[in-house]
Amino acid sequence: MSALDLLVSRLPADTVSTDPKILTERATDSWTLDLLRRVRGDELAEPAAVAFPVRTEDVATVLAWATETGTAVIPRGAGSGVCGGAQARAGAVILDLSRMDQIGDVDLVSQTVTAQAGVRGDRLEAALAANGLTTGHYPQSIAISTVGGWIAASSAGQASTGFGAIEDILLGLTAVLPTGEILRCRAVPRSAAGPDLRRLLIGSEGTLAVVTEATLACRRRPAGWEWLAVAFPRFTDMAGALREVRRAGTGVAVLRGYDETDAQFNFGALDHSGDCVGLAGFPADLPGLEARKQAAAAIMTSTGTELGARYGEHWEQHRNDAVQTYAQVMGPERAFGAGAIVDTMEVAGLWSAVPRLHEEIKGALAPFTELAGCHLSHLYPSGSSLYFTFLINGTDEHDAEATYRQAWDQAARSCAGAGGTITHHHGVGRLKAPYLTQELGAEGVAVLDRIRAALDPAQIMNPGGLRP
Ligand SMILES: Cc1cc2nc3c(=O)[nH]c(=O)nc-3n(C[C@H](O)[C@H](O)[C@H](O)COP(=O)(O)OP(=O)(O)OC[C@H]3O[C@@H](n4cnc5c(N)ncnc54)[C@H](O)[C@@H]3O)c2cc1C
Repeated sequence: MSALDLLVSRLPADTVSTDPKILTERATDSWTLDLLRRVRGDELAEPAAVAFPVRTEDVATVLAWATETGTAVIPRGAGSGVCGGAQARAGAVILDLSRMDQIGDVDLVSQTVTAQAGVRGDRLEAALAANGLTTGHYPQSIAISTVGGWIAASSAGQASTGFGAIEDILLGLTAVLPTGEILRCRAVPRSAAGPDLRRLLIGSEGTLAVVTEATLACRRRPAGWEWLAVAFPRFTDMAGALREVRRAGTGVAVLRGYDETDAQFNFGALDHSGDCVGLAGFPADLPGLEARKQAAAAIMTSTGTELGARYGEHWEQHRNDAVQTYAQVMGPERAFGAGAIVDTMEVAGLWSAVPRLHEEIKGALAPFTELAGCHLSHLYPSGSSLYFTFLINGTDEHDAEATYRQAWDQAARSCAGAGGTITHHHGVGRLKAPYLTQELGAEGVAVLDRIRAALDPAQIMNPGGLRP
């Protein structure tokens, strides 16, 4: 009996597929370079099979078998990752969690929800809306990403400034270790019982365990949104104003700051003047809303000029449009033409480093890109993320790849030079693996390797992930 037949025999019928179409579809995630390779018709490394578990026990069966047979396993949520974290390798089994899509208990007293790892964000939010609740976790990819993928890729949503990122809402989880043992971290608001094992899995990118279920904190669903938008002639003034709004305890949940290029891209349809744009969004039913908005407006208009609520309404209406645009540009349609590729780079740093990160990363991208804009979108009292969107217009599909590599190399170098981290919420994947040592130091990489060796003695879990 082949190893694969053995796996099939241990699982419920129809759990394992070797359908060529399914294998091809799961060869890549949504990393720009893999999408480019796809449209170019390159030969992509395809898995030997895709397993579709429905229960934690099925996942345990797959991983125990993989350890026994030395087969690589690559967990996959919805494949919306943009760094190649779920990229397949020849001979591997993709563990596709999309059939683990049950939404369990909603605890109305604690305001929590328990869901299987393959539940997509839009379905989860629809279920919670029926109870007047929300997780407050709104990644732009909410309709094409899963609870397990959020945890494994350390996701942050558009309202993270007020509502927190995945680490703030993850209360408990069930995960299967590479050997097939089941780890259960009970749902509690906080625990001092040793290092936080839930945190160990956040950002682990399928290299340490497979998350099969999670309990997330919820909150009352906002009745709507109230907006404040302010134009700033200078990026540094805008960053300073948003920093102070973040610190002022105004209850702002969405806080964003666009540089001139990104503002034109996002608000050009409103005949925007060309200045930077700072945007603050408040839950409409926030107690004392008017006073809070006025406090934020006073801070922002000390260096800027008020623009009106329509900027916020426009943002809210179009906040997820990029999902479709990205698919049109990088998919078979090639909306911007052959050789044109778009990508994003989301770094983070302390406030003292933010101006330099902005200037130097834009400078590093400039020689290779036709357009590079930046916005601040996840703000903390001590620092912020900086999200660069850039367009490369290569002479052809191969030239585009070479330029892309150069752009990333220069930008990653500039990020390190300015004291930033190369990823705030997209993770490492195959894209940023070459910069992992720069990021963590040789010692940090060695610690990761030792944790991995302890949990995964047969080295089956996403072998190409989180390795320089
Ligand atoms: C247009 C667009 C917009 C985006 N906007 C945002 C955004 O606003 N915020 C944000 O955070 N991200 C964003 N992303 C990135 C992406 O959606 C997130 O990284 C998301 O968390 C990935 O979820 P997924 O289910 O698609 O995971 P996948 O892409 O399938 O996998 C991501 C990684 O996690 C591992 N993995 C997946 N599921 C599990 C599991 N159950 N157990 C263990 N490992 C697992 C995979 O092996 C892989 O390494 C965006 C992506 C696109 C294409």
